[in-house]
Amino acid sequence: MRVREIQVKSALTFSEVKKRYTLSPYVGCTNSCVYCYARDYARRYKEMKWESEIIVKKNIDEALRGDIIRKKPVYVFMSTMCDPYQPIEEKYRLIRKCLEVFLEFPLLEIELMVLTKSTLVLRDLDLFKGMKKITVGLTVTTDDDEIRRVFEPNAASIEERIEVLKTLKENGVRTCAFISPMLPMDPERLSKMLKPHVDCVFIDDMHYRWRVKEFYKKLGLSWALEDEYFEKTRKRLLELFQK
Ligand code: SF4
Repeated sequence: MRVREIQVKSALTFSEVKKRYTLSPYVGCTNSCVYCYARDYARRYKEMKWESEIIVKKNIDEALRGDIIRKKPVYVFMSTMCDPYQPIEEKYRLIRKCLEVFLEFPLLEIELMVLTKSTLVLRDLDLFKGMKKITVGLTVTTDDDEIRRVFEPNAASIEERIEVLKTLKENGVRTCAFISPMLPMDPERLSKMLKPHVDCVFIDDMHYRWRVKEFYKKLGLSWALEDEYFEKTRKRLLELFQK
């Protein structure tokens, strides 16, 4: 894997569509999910090889301090261009440094959302516990770890992600499950696994379906890429989580 360190002037990017700031310490992601949409958002970096190259924003914590003073963000989502807790974070600790910067501004009460598929997120439990407005989200796209292995080969197992949610919630951290995209699943089983450990759930279907169409076909799973599958599964999940 090629690692390229860069210096940035700014850490926070405002999304007009979503009306929120985003912060991504890395561009690129070695979780290698088959359906990854992040590369479609990273148009500025279109020359990079997504699966084998990581851009590290080495001074992002310093840039963040300046951005907080200048931009006064109300809500920050981490991250859109990568999993902030992918393996390289163990070495660079950039997301931890950014969380420490947010803690320097308690009076601003900035609302934070962290989204990951990694158990490394528990390393920062001590910081989450000191934050009033944080939600930690784990992406859990299926109940079936065989499916997870095929679609998200380098990410934590489903069981490990549920354990992370459980630990976070037991420690008083607000948790959220991102069932997005809905991979082939048993909604009953997935809701039973998640429900005790989450405060909120976000559900979404597969975007950019053309990209994974052949992959689904080879696995004999084309039915799980149809509108009917997404509509039925979403409806069932909503019923189960609202019970
Ligand atoms: S974790 Fe997210 S950013 Fe990383 S490869 Fe998977 S979908 Fe892409």
